[in-house]
Amino acid sequence: MSTRSIPYGRQNITEADIAAVTEALKADYLTTGPRVDEFEEKFAAYIGAKYAVAVANGTAALHLCALALDVDEHSRVITTPITFAASANCVRYCGGEVWFADIDPETLTLDLEKVRELIESHPKGFFTGIVPVDFAGYPVDLEAFRALADAHGLWLIEDACHAPGGWFTDSKGIQQWCGNGAYADLAIFSFHPVKHIASGEGGMITTNDAALYERLKVLRTHGITRDRGNLRYPNHGGWYMEMQQLGYNYRIPDILCALGISQLSRAEEGMQRRQEIARRYDEAFSGGDAGAIRFHGVPATSIRHAFHLYVIEVPDRRGLYDHLREHGIYAQVHYIPVHTMPYYRDIGYEDADLHRSEDYYAGALSLPMYPTLTDEEQDFVIARVKEYAGG
Ligand SMILES: *Cc1c(COP(=O)(O)O)cnc(C)c1O
Repeated sequence: MSTRSIPYGRQNITEADIAAVTEALKADYLTTGPRVDEFEEKFAAYIGAKYAVAVANGTAALHLCALALDVDEHSRVITTPITFAASANCVRYCGGEVWFADIDPETLTLDLEKVRELIESHPKGFFTGIVPVDFAGYPVDLEAFRALADAHGLWLIEDACHAPGGWFTDSKGIQQWCGNGAYADLAIFSFHPVKHIASGEGGMITTNDAALYERLKVLRTHGITRDRGNLRYPNHGGWYMEMQQLGYNYRIPDILCALGISQLSRAEEGMQRRQEIARRYDEAFSGGDAGAIRFHGVPATSIRHAFHLYVIEVPDRRGLYDHLREHGIYAQVHYIPVHTMPYYRDIGYEDADLHRSEDYYAGALSLPMYPTLTDEEQDFVIARVKEYAGG
């Protein structure tokens, strides 16, 4: 029995991060200040999007996207069951209906053909939007989803929480970074500690659409505008502002943006390390002693998988999970399919035919994957996995 404890993911806080936060604490703003704009500009530049809006967390980002796209009780939105519940919940917050389509068992992301079948088996205008998720860091082919969405008048929100720094290659040979706004209307990210870039709580929306960008900024802070050019009634004076629509307080504090900016400056370094860790796992599970351990290899040149997660599938997942815990390895399961959650069962998903997602869930386990995982720790994880599940 080992005394070490190895989680599936964790943040990496450096002295530079601490110095950046300390500096922000000593400055004039605790909440909205100059670091919010700086974080937005630098994040947009990293991803390659025109605009970015920093918010309180990834879930708030999703909610604001749904509001900005006018999701309401007449909306029907398609997403994947293999995601964090927030990808679906944002539609429910606005009173819309969620429809789940099954995954592609190779990429583990929303299957384009399943989505097409779903859309084509319903009347024109039945669906309003699609929320593809770059699950585990696998970049969804958004060019293909855009073509499908355009053919049916749907919008696209890319849930890119797992994939800052990932990209796919489009039909013109261009590397399209996850969340860059080239194909999706809006994309969202989270800065929760297990994600690539940590700010504690935090989120970001990216887009290339100027009108959506303006709308999101107003919705982020109560629906209030001070923009003199956009007032609906006469200006009463310097204090005057208008609450023109029902917004929220989804702002992110300057202190957290200081941490986000500092972390962002190391994003590429972290991404390189994630690629190395994935390669070492792939190699270990390609050998003759790997038994029934299944991993998901990725095309090496046409995409860059962002490896938020490294997922394997095994026949006895529960046994392996418990075995690893006995050795201080806290593997995790991503995800219990969203449509099987009691809340979604209660509103009618009991009998949804989503067997690929359910089959994947039955064997899925996410192994430790984070930049500060050492080779020695990874070898320990691999050995414990193989002694239980190899053969
Ligand atoms: C983390 C995550 C979210 C939510 O982000 P929070 O910042 O925790 O609210 C949404 N979708 C996916 C896929 C995530 O991984």
